[in-house]
Amino acid sequence: MKKVVKFGGSSLASAEQFQKVGDIIRADKARRYVVPSAPGRRFDNDTKVTDMLYCCYEAAEKGESFKSKLKAIKARYDEIIHGLNLELSLDEEFQTIEEQFKAKAGKDYAASRGEYLNGIIMAHYLGYEFIDSAQVIVFDEDGSYNDDKTMEKLSARLQSVERAVIPGFYGAMENGKVKTFSRGGSDVTGSIVAKAVRADLYENWTDVSGFLVADPRIIFNPEVIETITYRELRELSYMGATVLHEDAIFPVRSMGIPINIRNTNKPQDPGTLIVESTCRQPKYTITGVAGKKGFVAINIEKDMMNSEIGFGRKVLSVFEDNGISFEHMPSGIDTLTVFVHQTEFEEKEQKILAELHRIVTPDLIDLEGDLALIAVVGRGMRATRGTAGRIFSALAHANVNVKMIDQGSSELNIIIGVSNKDFEAAIKAIYDIFVTIQL
Ligand code: ASP
Repeated sequence: MKKVVKFGGSSLASAEQFQKVGDIIRADKARRYVVPSAPGRRFDNDTKVTDMLYCCYEAAEKGESFKSKLKAIKARYDEIIHGLNLELSLDEEFQTIEEQFKAKAGKDYAASRGEYLNGIIMAHYLGYEFIDSAQVIVFDEDGSYNDDKTMEKLSARLQSVERAVIPGFYGAMENGKVKTFSRGGSDVTGSIVAKAVRADLYENWTDVSGFLVADPRIIFNPEVIETITYRELRELSYMGATVLHEDAIFPVRSMGIPINIRNTNKPQDPGTLIVESTCRQPKYTITGVAGKKGFVAINIEKDMMNSEIGFGRKVLSVFEDNGISFEHMPSGIDTLTVFVHQTEFEEKEQKILAELHRIVTPDLIDLEGDLALIAVVGRGMRATRGTAGRIFSALAHANVNVKMIDQGSSELNIIIGVSNKDFEAAIKAIYDIFVTIQL
């Protein structure tokens, strides 16, 4: 068995957290490849080391003094080193960082030092080999991640290494310039390492016990999802971003490697297992319900729309030309509605409307803003009759007016549009009918 384990910032924010991580790794011999984040928040209102680095580098770039800022960052690491009683000094590393900041090595270089230094401490603490991600994670000159080259380098490098620490979040271009993934990108590194070593499992350790059936800000103490498929997770992407970086699923998914979300502070909890497919029946008919406020519906009407070839394409080309992606597009015989993010749309509203009038000459366009979209997702829905019936009667009882319904042909999801103001009530009604009452 071979496992890749990634630990998020809050799991590595202090010496105490490092000790928990050490215990977790030592508890299972299969946990051979470790991907750490930078130290995160130790308490509410604390600052993540990554943010301290961005701020420090900003000062350096402006030619301002950044010594005290860098000192505060060093103090974060020294606190961990001393708390763990390690014989390790980062003085030389900080010397180099200071020089590189003065030489304006770049924002990405600056941010990457958070994981780099944490990786050095982690390797020292565990007695594992340290591998600098700049040597093995490859980016192209245009800044995009190069999977083929990375797989080649990383697999070759790790082949003879029994146990290693590979810092998350960054790699380098072939000219040596450091490049990071987007924020939260250590999740992506973990997934890449899991693919490179063909791991049996990618464990992603964070500060929650997995994905929740619904948002805990709306539902008190919601249930944890035990098993979810990659497709379901994509459908629930409205809720996914904070637990797992969206791009983290692609490398492992292509190899059929499951991801297990685990809680460093509650290692006894099984967490959520994300798999390609499963015959395990979900506990409830729905796997999860998630949503987001702030959409606008652009409703376009035109007589005989259904026989006008290319109508949909022309409508969508207007959004494409304006750099706006659409979320859903339910249609009727002579109507077509495009749902987009309101904030993005508002900036270009009049331009888009003018272009739509010019390109598709509709009879009418009307707009409805302040809408929320809710995705009810579950592989269990396919085998269950009456799911839609239950959802809509629950919504009716909660006095929620449904503005749009869209069921994917996969029967994996039902999308419901409601007013922003009804959003919380709708989520609660759906959660209660499937989970609390379990009708
Ligand atoms: N430390 C980086 C961030 O704060 C990357 C990560 O934690 O995954 O975004």
